[in-house]
Amino acid sequence: MIKKCTKYEALFTFGSDENLKRHVETCMDCAQEQELMDKVSGLLNEVKPYYRNQRKKTARLKMACAVFAILFSGTALGVVNFNTDVADIIRYGTTLSADDYGFPVDSYGLLMVE
Ligand SMILES: [Zn+2]
Repeated sequence: MIKKCTKYEALFTFGSDENLKRHVETCMDCAQEQELMDKVSGLLNEVKPYYRNQRKKTARLKMACAVFAILFSGTALGVVNFNTDVADIIRYGTTLSADDYGFPVDSYGLLMVE
């Protein structure tokens, strides 16, 4: 079994362009990888002008989302903190009974008092 060359990512990330180029020229695996990269960056260049036009709109939308998320999580956390049952359901999927806390209980789930 021939092991696939895994140098491409390392060279692409940490190596210089020259090193990468030289390796790609001698390595089939990495040449394939390079071809894929070229395709992706070509695709990105095609899409870029579209995104440039959209950026203003997107920025505003992102802002709205962020504000909404902050408001929503703030409210949700408030509810959780004030209502331990809700917190238990979120954490454990169910409300904890006295039994789950390790207290001695009878078959009704009520605390046993001796
Ligand atoms: Zn290689």
